[in-house]
Formats: sequence, structure tokens, C-alpha cells
Amino acid sequence: MSIQILSTLAREQFEELVAVTDEATGLRAFVALHDTSAGPAVGGVRRYEYASEEAALSDCLRLARAMTAKCVLADLPAGGGKAVILDEPELDREAAYGAFARRVEQFDGRYYTGPDVGTGPMETAWMAAHTRFAADPGPAGPGLLSQATAAGAFAGIGVALEHLDGATDWGRRTVVVQGLGQVGHELAGRLRAQDARVLASDLDPERCARAEREFGVEIVEPGTEFQIPCDVFSPNAMGGVFHDLNLRKLDARIVAGAANNPLASLEHGDRLHEAGVLYVPDFVVNSGALVRGVLFHLEGRREPLDAIEARIAAGARAIIERSDAEDRPPARVAEREVAERLAARRTAASSAAGGAAATTAANSSERDAVFGRSPEA
Ligand code: NAD
Repeated sequence: MSIQILSTLAREQFEELVAVTDEATGLRAFVALHDTSAGPAVGGVRRYEYASEEAALSDCLRLARAMTAKCVLADLPAGGGKAVILDEPELDREAAYGAFARRVEQFDGRYYTGPDVGTGPMETAWMAAHTRFAADPGPAGPGLLSQATAAGAFAGIGVALEHLDGATDWGRRTVVVQGLGQVGHELAGRLRAQDARVLASDLDPERCARAEREFGVEIVEPGTEFQIPCDVFSPNAMGGVFHDLNLRKLDARIVAGAANNPLASLEHGDRLHEAGVLYVPDFVVNSGALVRGVLFHLEGRREPLDAIEARIAAGARAIIERSDAEDRPPARVAEREVAERLAARRTAASSAAGGAAATTAANSSERDAVFGRSPEA
């Protein structure tokens, strides 16, 4: 894989990319700010053992762009950003997160960070000790963000079931949950509380045992989950899982979950559509944490879970209905919607900036006139 950094940044209209290193702690990270036209760039930090720096950078850019899509579709006064920390055995984790957070502080509110894969409440607390711009997982913060994400994924699944069958009818549903991490565990609990049958996989046997013990989830071997006949397949682990091989195995009517970028490509979304599988795009349903974090930090309120569910359900319903009316894959419909709304945001921001510049110019002309200098001087 080879990535042309500047061409990619220009083509995807990124505002800024920062590389962060800290020799003392072993920190190597990227921070990408995709869009700040409507407010700060917001997005968590992923810590992962990437195969290469290029893989880390390309993940960071994809994820930041997806955060913009989520902000735009959820109508939030914020845009997309993301960071990745390249994990390795020598990384002095607590100190590295501290060094990273100090760099986040230097953005002075243009970038807000929080949890993602590899960054849970402990790591977020380490960051919050060094910056005002990390979601504090303690009582002073916005509350459990992964719970909000799971609520959105749950709402998206419900909307898809209602769309296909007219009712959620949870007690008669089989849902396969891939990944029992912060989000997958919560989601499995929500589904079991509604009496759905839940089969789930995770690479971590302890997480499997916990979900089995707490919720009566049926555990399956990772890699076997795609071929299980089910109503809903819910990806909640890593991205890119809908590639050629897994698509051939899939035996579900709906795909909806929190994992970022689960499609290997948009064409894989087209193939789901052609096969009659209702795919609810990740960035339509996995914005629960974002909604909560943004409204907490920018508007000072803790949005209740049912309000988050209602907001995400409305967005998912609109995309699914438009997709149905146009017989166009939901991922394509959602991408187009994002592009249109983002262009409108950026136009509004640049005319506001033009207006502000004109006002500043007018004010300085006035001031210059007051100070007796000609505005043309
Ligand atoms: P997490 O790290 O807590 O959990 C991920 C889980 O997936 C881990 O338990 C891991 O062992 C498991 N896993 C990895 N590869 C797997 C495989 N091949 N098969 C089965 N299990 C596998 O992460 P999370 O916070 O729960 O996030 C899950 C997904 O949702 C990620 O894609 C993340 O980007 C996305 N997401 C999370 C949030 C949030 O609030 N945490 C918000 C939006 C999107």
C-alpha cells in the first residue's frame, strides 16, 4: 500500500494532519482534522498495533472523515477529527497518553478527543488529566460514551426491523454480535433485555465469558459468525469485515452495528443491496457517543440515552426510506447526503468568514477614519 499524503488530504478536503512523536514514552501518533466549518473537530483516539505507519495513517484519515459524516448526519455543531496511536510492546502507555494529551491541549479546542478501540475509560482518564479537550470518563464528564454508542446501534437495528417487518418483535429475533468490547457488550445486554436471541464472538475469551455469564449470550468461535442464519448481523469489532469472502458466507437480512467502516469498499455495500440485505451505514447509527460528547462539551448538557436513540432512529429511518424510494444502496444515499450537507456547511462558513472579514475591514476603516488615516492607506 502506498499513500500520497498531500494528494489524499487535498482530494478529501482535510484541513490539517499532525504527526506526534515523543521519544521518552515511545509515542508515535497521527491526528487528522477533517472539518471545523461548523465547530471543533471531534473524534477519539485509536490505539492499535498497525502493520505499518502507512496503515495507521490511512486508518486515521478514514476515521476522521467518517467522524465528519457522523457530525453532519446527526446535525451537530462539530466536524470530524481522529487520532491513532501506534501501539507496540515498548510503549509506556500512561506516559504516552499524557504526552499525546498535552499535544491535544495545544490545539486549544479545535480538536476534542475521547475513546475508541484500545482507548477505554482508563486511558481517557489519563488524557483528561492533561487536557481540557478529552472526554472525562469520571463523574465530571459526559457519562459512559460506549453506552450511548450501543444505544444508537440498538436504535438502528430496531428501525431496520420495523422497516422490513413492520415491528421490532425482539423476542422472535436472532442477532449475531461480532465483538464484545465496550460497545458490543452493552449492545448484547440491550438485545438480551428485550429477549432477543444473541450469538456473539470475541477474540478475548474473558469478554466472551462475561457476556455469557451476565446476559446468557451464546458464544461462537470468531470467524464462524458470518455463516450463522440470523435476522441481524451486528459488526462491533474492527472495520473492513465485509469483504468478498465474508459476504459470500453472510446469512442475515440486516447488517447494522457500531464498527467504523465495516465495508471493505462501497461496492461491497452495493452487493449487500443487490442481495436484498438491508445495510444501515455505520456513520448513521454509531454516533451516540459523539452526540453525547459534543452536546456535553459544547452545550453543557448530558443528553439522555432515549433522546440519543430517538435522534439516531430518525436519521436512520430517513436514509432507509430514501434508499428504498430510489432503489439505491443506503451507503450511497448516506454518502451523497453527507457530501451535500457538508458542502452547504462549508459554503455557509466561508460566507460567514467573508462577512466577518468584511465587518472587520469595515470596522478597521472606521477605526482608521477615527484615527485620522485614510482607509486606502
Ligand atoms: P473495544 O476495543 O472495546 O472492542 C472491540 C472488541 O472487538 C474487542 O473485545 C476485540 O477483542 C474484539 N475483536 C477484534 N477483532 C475481532 C474479530 N475478528 N472477531 C471478534 N471480535 C473481535 O472497541 P469498542 O469501543 O467496543 O468499539 C467497537 C467498534 O465500534 C470499533 O470499530 C469502534 O471504532 C466503533 N465505535 C466505537 C465507539 C465507542 O463509543 N466506543 C463509537 C463509535 C464507533
